[in-house]
Amino acid sequence: MIPMDALEELRAALPGDVVVTDPAATEKYRHDWSRDPSAGTPEAVVRAEDAAQVQIAVRWAAAHRVPVVPRGAGSGLSGGASAVDGGIVLSLERMAEIEIDTSCQVAVVQPGAFNKDVKAAAAEAGLWYPPDPSSYEICSIGGNVATNAGGLCCVKYGVTTDYVLGLDVVLADGTLVTLGGKRIKDVAGLSLVKLFVGSEGTLGIVTRAILRLVPAQAARSTLVATFPTVHAAAEAVVTMRSTMRPCLCELMDRDSVNAVEDHRPMGLDRDAGALLIVQSDAPGEVRSAELATMQAACEAAGAVECFATDDAAEGEQFVQARRMSFPALEARGSLLLEDVGVPIPLLPDLLDAIGRIATSYDVEIPVVAHAGDGNTHPNIVYDPADADSERRARAAFGEVMAAAIALGGTITGEHGVGKAKAIALPDQLGPDVMALTLTIKRALDPDGILNPGAILDGR
Ligand SMILES: Cc1cc2nc3c(=O)[nH]c(=O)nc-3n(C[C@H](O)[C@H](O)[C@H](O)COP(=O)(O)OP(=O)(O)OC[C@H]3O[C@@H](n4cnc5c(N)ncnc54)[C@H](O)[C@@H]3O)c2cc1C
Repeated sequence: MIPMDALEELRAALPGDVVVTDPAATEKYRHDWSRDPSAGTPEAVVRAEDAAQVQIAVRWAAAHRVPVVPRGAGSGLSGGASAVDGGIVLSLERMAEIEIDTSCQVAVVQPGAFNKDVKAAAAEAGLWYPPDPSSYEICSIGGNVATNAGGLCCVKYGVTTDYVLGLDVVLADGTLVTLGGKRIKDVAGLSLVKLFVGSEGTLGIVTRAILRLVPAQAARSTLVATFPTVHAAAEAVVTMRSTMRPCLCELMDRDSVNAVEDHRPMGLDRDAGALLIVQSDAPGEVRSAELATMQAACEAAGAVECFATDDAAEGEQFVQARRMSFPALEARGSLLLEDVGVPIPLLPDLLDAIGRIATSYDVEIPVVAHAGDGNTHPNIVYDPADADSERRARAAFGEVMAAAIALGGTITGEHGVGKAKAIALPDQLGPDVMALTLTIKRALDPDGILNPGAILDGR
């Protein structure tokens, strides 16, 4: 519990409506999108308006040893922004300025700016910010940087870290450091920008990001293929990825297709064992050649039907259906959201293992995947009112991560470890890498005030 006089000190240092303590108002800052049941109740929410206010809040927290949970838009899927009891939530939602520097082809962005708004600002200047989590309309750049967010076009264009040239970060003692800058090439010193990308608010608070922009994306053609099984669809992905890189390669299994159709009918084939949506944005005739290669891979793997279109709007409808999968599944019950990945050739094995786990635990595990990256989202559905259903779902959750690790994969490809997966991280990283991780954490945050319980399990 934070002493009342300490809270008064915080309010005095950050006047106006920056500090919120009313439980009715702080309630919406408790959870991220995963609705992590272990989330605590914040004693205050600081809605900082600039980096100086972030520094004030963090210096105060350091002086009083109060946990600080940084928060962007709360769309995270691993409980990374879950509040902790006795702590504050530091919301960056009010810091949302975006400046486009066309001569350097960069965006200088405050952390609360939404991904979609950065994309729109870049597009106005004829440029493109590629990272595109499915949640791009509802997530912030600060959250994207902190989770090293991925998305649909990563298969060809890389993930958030590939676009971060510079960061301003408030450290655990309140110091503001500026790392990197508008320079495309810069190897002076350690790669500290990379250290903070993906650190999930455990090492510092991002107050500004300098993001690389690229020329606008060329027109895309789309291939949609249906398969009798999810294994066959994965085999097609392995084949096409061994010779080419589509600019999008997404998989939906039958349960995901049906969940979307139940939620909002989009005309998808409910009987298909799996659906692949693949795109090429290669120039001119190369695009047709890439589409032919994709189609050949699908047919060789036993595709039931292949449909190709150069019509951007038609292609986007399929991509929208894929983006709809999380909200659609949410309507079916409570979800445990998985994010496991493997080297691409092992994708069929991972999907087979997930199918076996669903059967043996008698749980529904619809799968969507950024298949071209080997990154899958098996989403375990359970009935929260049924204790046995929840027990089986939680056991299956652990088994899916174990299956990925056994295949040389990862427990999280893009959502982050957060608090939901911290307990499983040592199984993937092993004792030496965990010790190194802890050394870095202790060096930067000796009192452990920044996002305790995220990445490193506090239990
Ligand atoms: C429907 C849906 C689809 C999604 N699809 C994808 C997808 O395709 N790819 C993908 O990668 N993710 C996806 N996500 C997950 C989520 O949108 C991303 O993890 C996103 O990057 C989180 O951004 P946010 O602003 O909501 O962050 P939050 O949820 O607020 O926070 C996420 C983490 O970042 C930390 N954090 C936030 N801001 C800062 C900051 N300024 N400084 C330091 N730490 C900070 C938090 O403490 C927390 O650990 C999806 C989520 C939903 C709901």
